[in-house]
Amino acid sequence: MPQCPVCRVKFGDWGGVAEHLSYMARTSDGAHVMWLNRNISNSELRPEELEVRLRELFNHGGDLGMWIRRRVIDRFYGENPHPFILAMQRPNRAILLGYVIEHQHFLRN
Ligand SMILES: [Zn+2]
Repeated sequence: MPQCPVCRVKFGDWGGVAEHLSYMARTSDGAHVMWLNRNISNSELRPEELEVRLRELFNHGGDLGMWIRRRVIDRFYGENPHPFILAMQRPNRAILLGYVIEHQHFLRN
């Protein structure tokens, strides 16, 4: 059953999730707006367009492995890559130090 990727509320279909996300974005809810900007688009979409984009994003067509690969490629090379990925294109001392601390923390835990 489709659910909001931010607050995990369940809906009967992706149209319901799209309406919910659109509503939350219009009320300027920070978490929902941030998720939409990072995963869908920085510009406001009509709920019908958003529904199509949500289906594309979450439907793995029975091939979860390919879905994960597509998502990773989008993250690195898509129109809105993660800020850390951008920073690592031209790493400086602070970025590399942050990476080492984060990685060490990850390995310990
Ligand atoms: Zn939500």
